[in-house]
Amino acid sequence: MTSVRKNIKDKVLIVGAGPAGISAALELNRRGIPFEIVEKNKVGGLARNANLIRNFPAFPDGISGMKLSDLLNKQMKRHSIKVINGIATEIECTDGKIVAKISGKQMTFDAAIISTGTIFRKAGFPGEDEIFAAKKLFYEIADADFSSFKNFIVIGGGDVAFDYAISVAEAGKSVSILLRNEPKCINFLRKNAEKYGIKLFPQTVVDRAKLDNGKILISTRSGKKHTADCIIIAVGRTADMLCLKNLDEIEIFPDGSTSAEKIFFAGDVLHPDVRQVGIAVGDGIRAACNVAKFFK
Ligand SMILES: Cc1cc2nc3c(=O)[nH]c(=O)nc-3n(C[C@H](O)[C@H](O)[C@H](O)COP(=O)(O)OP(=O)(O)OC[C@H]3O[C@@H](n4cnc5c(N)ncnc54)[C@H](O)[C@@H]3O)c2cc1C
Repeated sequence: MTSVRKNIKDKVLIVGAGPAGISAALELNRRGIPFEIVEKNKVGGLARNANLIRNFPAFPDGISGMKLSDLLNKQMKRHSIKVINGIATEIECTDGKIVAKISGKQMTFDAAIISTGTIFRKAGFPGEDEIFAAKKLFYEIADADFSSFKNFIVIGGGDVAFDYAISVAEAGKSVSILLRNEPKCINFLRKNAEKYGIKLFPQTVVDRAKLDNGKILISTRSGKKHTADCIIIAVGRTADMLCLKNLDEIEIFPDGSTSAEKIFFAGDVLHPDVRQVGIAVGDGIRAACNVAKFFK
């Protein structure tokens, strides 16, 4: 239990221990406001996938997503903040309370900070689900075991697709990127991809893919075929609101406050098209400050 000040009755639920949820937790802890923070996967969230984060202040040489996540974890431990390893579901506002299920167990809170980040989008071609089930297709790479694969195809044209391709190339694997249009990534990633000899196939739309003797055969709309041992898909992400129940009508304001006064949003879930660690951190701190104001 993450009980910070036991004599205070108002308690906050933080859902998600990515940069936004962790920042909210650190700020609530600093203010002595009790809370529970729940994470269904690992502390650090999506950032664990990042090859090199160069735009987060105080790291002059940049920092890998894994290292940043380790530091965030360390900082939480330093403040004796324990993360509940579980999934929050069915969060709703009833009778002036926040009711949630934490890994199936019903709990009641006085406010909630939703910092659940985003969920991947599927590319949508026939064969995608079968190859995913065979553990030869991934949407995030942080926990993917692809040590046995040699040839990779990344599908997508933005920063995340290029970042994944660079991580794979750095692991000594051969990698190509199939892009529907032209690259949409920042110049730094494009240059790095060139440096690693990553092959780009612009104007390429995947028609279907199938497994054949352990290999993946990819057919494209232009008729060109590709083979790979593993596919990584990065074609966009959407806000993860799956933990909410009966809150379809909720109005979310740009600062993360909502029409359901006791619920606050922070991080990528609030602006899934602008995904940045620095913004998520700021959002998390702001959500905690707004909760503190609300409790006054
Ligand atoms: C490859 C890649 C490279 C990137 N590079 C950069 C970069 O260079 N610079 C930069 O600023 N940003 C970068 N980002 C973006 C950055 O990782 C995100 O903006 C940041 O992680 C968002 O933080 P967050 O806390 O809002 O969400 P997330 O990090 O997504 O964390 C949300 C957490 O909530 C958990 N969760 C969701 N639902 C539940 C539930 N119901 N119950 C319990 N837990 C739940 C998830 O498991 C997750 O851990 C990159 C992202 C990727 C994928």
